[in-house]
Formats: sequence, C-alpha cells, structure tokens
Amino acid sequence: MKYFSTIAFLCLTLVLARQAKALEPIPDKLVVLTFDDSVASHATFVAPLLKKYGFGATFFITEGFEFAVDKEHYMTWEQIKALDADGFEIGNHTRKHAGVAKQKPEELAADVEYIEQQCVRNGIPRPTSFCYPGYQTSEAAVKLLRERGYHFARAGSAKAFDPVSDDLLTMPQAFDSKPEGTLEQFKAAVAQASNGKIAVMTFHGVPDIKHPWVNTDPAKFESYMAHLKEQGCRVIAVRDLEKYIELKKP
Ligand SMILES: [Zn+2]
Repeated sequence: MKYFSTIAFLCLTLVLARQAKALEPIPDKLVVLTFDDSVASHATFVAPLLKKYGFGATFFITEGFEFAVDKEHYMTWEQIKALDADGFEIGNHTRKHAGVAKQKPEELAADVEYIEQQCVRNGIPRPTSFCYPGYQTSEAAVKLLRERGYHFARAGSAKAFDPVSDDLLTMPQAFDSKPEGTLEQFKAAVAQASNGKIAVMTFHGVPDIKHPWVNTDPAKFESYMAHLKEQGCRVIAVRDLEKYIELKKP
C-alpha cells in the first residue's frame, strides 16, 4: 500500500512538473490585439488584413449601441461567427455596454451571461476573455468574472501588461487607438513589450463611423500592422496568453 502511494505521489509530481513546464517564457515583442464594440469594419476590413499577416486578435462583442437595428455599422452574428471560424477569439463586452461600477450585481451578471449564451447559440465557444465597457472596473465585477471562469479581462490605463504585478482580470492596455494617435506612439507602445511585459493594443472600428472619437483611419491601421510585421512581433489574441501565463485558481 505504501509502495502504491509512493508511485501515485511520483506520478502526480511528474504531471504537475509537466504542466508547469508547459508554460513558455514570455518573448519580447509579444503583442495582443483587441477590438471593441462589434463594429462592422472588424469583419470587412480588419480581419482580412490580420489574416494576410497571420496575426491573432480578440474581438470583444457587445449588443449595445445600435447593434440590434443598424447592421450597416455593426456586425451580424453571422459575421462574428465567421471571425471565430477564422481562428480569431470572440470575447465578452457585455450585452448593453453599461459601466459595470454603476450596475447592480444581478444586472451585470445578466449582461455577461447574455453574451455567453449568444456565443453558444451561434456555435462559438463560451468566452474566457472580457473587456470592461468604457474601461470602468469594479471589485464586484472582478469577483463575478472570476466566479464565472474568466481568465483575462482588459481594462483601460496606458502601460504594458506585467503578469507578475498586474491582475489578469484588470489587464492594462499599452495603446488605445484614437483619431489623433500616431505611428510614433504605436511604436513606443510596441517597444514596451520586453522583459516579461506584454503590449495589449486597443482598437475600435477601422474606421468607426458611429463613434468618431475612437476612430482609427484604415491607412494608419495598415501602417501599425506593417510595423508589427517589420519588428517580427508575435501577435496574438488574449486567450493565447494562457501559453505564457499561469492562470489564477477560481
Ligand atoms: Zn466598448
């Protein structure tokens, strides 16, 4: 009996050692691309360009704004499904795009669950990545996401993501694309991705006709993506971080 428990212990140790070993060291120039708000140009312009480069990305889906009625400027679920089929990640950006800090816990839970259900209904995996509407976070929201099994959540801020010191459920962004943003600023954000830090980039529509204050000009976006290619960056979706970062136990 003692012999068997020793064998069992050794096996368990081996399994755990293998799991720990499975994590890869974070390379320099590791860049995460994220796109918020279900904008139609994500399907028509962004995804084809990213596919050309072989870049990964996360599209954070909300049914807020005029999603239900304006199918010229917001994606259909068929388009969202096609992004998933193309290997991109579909993340949760809540049903109504309300600030989580102002919501009652049950309202937030319902909004989060709704997008999960919509994904499942459309044959898309239940999201494990979340993005806070308006970048507003709250302790209650972090707790809820942890309980619902989310691995990563992107907030606002303006710094590279350091998995050693930053909470995986309030992950900062290194770059937030705005109409006035420049290639030099983008390059500076990319340059922060070194020594275990990761550059998480936020975009809205490319272009974003309905929200001009977060618009990214397509030509400018092309220059950003060309820079990532020139630099030899590894460009991934949020969920791909699991290859490099140990997830917190729920
Ligand atoms: Zn948003």
